[in-house]
Amino acid sequence: MKKYPDYKITTFLPAIFLIFLACTAPSQRGPEQPFIKGVYGNPGSLLKAGYAFDSLGMNAVFVRSISLNRVFYDTTRLQGCKVFVEFPTLIGRGYVDAHPDAWPVDEKGEQSPPADWFMGVCPTNPGFRAFREKQLRELLTEFAVDGIFLDYLHWHAQFESTDPILPETCFCDHCTGLFADYLGKNIPGEAAPEKAAWILEHADPQWRAWRNTILNGWVSGMKEIVKEIRPDALVGVYYCAWYPADHDSALFRILGIDVAGLAGIAEVMSPMLFHKMKDHPVEWPGEYVAWLDHLTGAGTTGKPLIWPIVQAHNQPGVISPEEFRQVMLSGSKPPASGIMMFSDVSLLQDPEKIEVMKALYHGELNK
Ligand SMILES: [Zn+2]
Repeated sequence: MKKYPDYKITTFLPAIFLIFLACTAPSQRGPEQPFIKGVYGNPGSLLKAGYAFDSLGMNAVFVRSISLNRVFYDTTRLQGCKVFVEFPTLIGRGYVDAHPDAWPVDEKGEQSPPADWFMGVCPTNPGFRAFREKQLRELLTEFAVDGIFLDYLHWHAQFESTDPILPETCFCDHCTGLFADYLGKNIPGEAAPEKAAWILEHADPQWRAWRNTILNGWVSGMKEIVKEIRPDALVGVYYCAWYPADHDSALFRILGIDVAGLAGIAEVMSPMLFHKMKDHPVEWPGEYVAWLDHLTGAGTTGKPLIWPIVQAHNQPGVISPEEFRQVMLSGSKPPASGIMMFSDVSLLQDPEKIEVMKALYHGELNK
């Protein structure tokens, strides 16, 4: 063993401290971590239309699980892009029809109806959890992806609309049983409506907190699977970008989301900054990023990464190419270290938007 001179360790403490600082200093993107420039949806449609990702300036795709296949994966790699995959999490459409025990139950003890086009699920249903875990394992085993982005990460509700649908769920026997364990006491009443009434009247804060633990448990559980199979893959979340007080605090109260808690588990936060849908100005994406930075300290610590998704889609409203350019720039403000838009379809519908994206990805956002 090599013998070192017998210096006192204290001699080196200031230097060691400086080296430690240098190693841990915030670096959301160094030479090895370029600014992420992506497209969300089914980016293969751009390839089919004759475009190439590299010539568009892209370095990442955010592809829906259903659009991921071997040809797309291999082509994307050849064009120098990272492959991030959207993973639908608490969406139960189809599943709840075949498994009625997983249907979210409202305070009347009835199946909560679909919320517009969205149908959620009971997040504590063990069969559904096993179903999603199996899907995730299969996906990760087949494809060496750079990250998994959990989508539909909320209790049953509809927030992707100018007129949100915000039901109270889930009061199925399994949920109220688990909540009783959490409370450490029996929930009075026999049927679901009685239990729901008692919970909402006597244990509302605890109920909301418990629902949040269930949601965070999904993120932790999915993250464990990702790290087990693909240790280098990132875990990201697409989530509703309401501020906590919006819609009578529905972000936490109904959706079950606590942004700070979520940011403590997920490695990438991708707030859905659909400005037109939410009737916000083009400056709003940048304002939200600043709020998220303030909440999480991401700009100082480098964690979590912030990669917003902005609206290019013409529904609701019409997004002009110039408006699209402005929200891309706004959402890219530091400490954001990546950006993407919703979605490939809107680009193909208006080739001017493709030119806008290409100019940004080769120009101002080429960092
Ligand atoms: Zn339930």
